[in-house]
Amino acid sequence: MTIASNLQTVQARIAQACHSAGRPSDTVKLLAVSKTFPPESVVQAADCGQRDFGENYIQEGVEKIATLAHRGLVWHCIGPIQSNKTRLVAAHFDWVHSVDRLKIAQRLSEQRPPEVAPLNVCIQVNIDGGAGKAGVAPEEALVLAQEVAVLPRLRLRGLMTIPEPSDDFATNLAVHRQTKALYDQLCASGLVLDTLSMGMSADLEAAIHAGSTLVRVGSAIFGGRTAA
Ligand SMILES: *Cc1c(COP(=O)(O)O)cnc(C)c1O
Repeated sequence: MTIASNLQTVQARIAQACHSAGRPSDTVKLLAVSKTFPPESVVQAADCGQRDFGENYIQEGVEKIATLAHRGLVWHCIGPIQSNKTRLVAAHFDWVHSVDRLKIAQRLSEQRPPEVAPLNVCIQVNIDGGAGKAGVAPEEALVLAQEVAVLPRLRLRGLMTIPEPSDDFATNLAVHRQTKALYDQLCASGLVLDTLSMGMSADLEAAIHAGSTLVRVGSAIFGGRTAA
């Protein structure tokens, strides 16, 4: 299968899921997760009109961003960020989905170059409490979101989550609905949010049913990853 035909298949899945959830299909954005794949793969997807790309590994992402700077793409950091990598992230990415500590958010805000737009940020939530998993605990998400929202060089956009993988639709739906409920609670508290980043290749239908506004899809577009 080619990247072009895979992209069409994923777009059709998104459209179908929106249709059966009674949502307009332009309410869900597709983020193509290009981690471990070379710039040529990104170019193939970009030639089909895909604009948003996600990277997990900072160094790898920064290299691709530099190689493809002339293409005008939008780059999302979706992987764990250590303190010593915040400067690179702040300088090169447009979005960060994986903020789960105030200290990282403060560094990103301080290091965001003044000549570019504020960095778009989502708070990563460990919604199902998996031990050792990245993400803030759900009961701490509101306080962290309020602290991040006032940082001058960040623009808080919403929440991101990576639940335990399951091949059962109902199980995925139930977990995704917990994240949606938390997102609604943050909105009700007065935060202005527009992004619920949840759903991947295997569970995007359940995520869209629960209210996802952005699905992060890697293997269904680019193929299986040998090293990840
Ligand atoms: C790798 C990754 C994805 C994409 O996963 P697929 O199963 O390949 O679609 C999405 N989100 C995050 C945070 C990832 O690390």
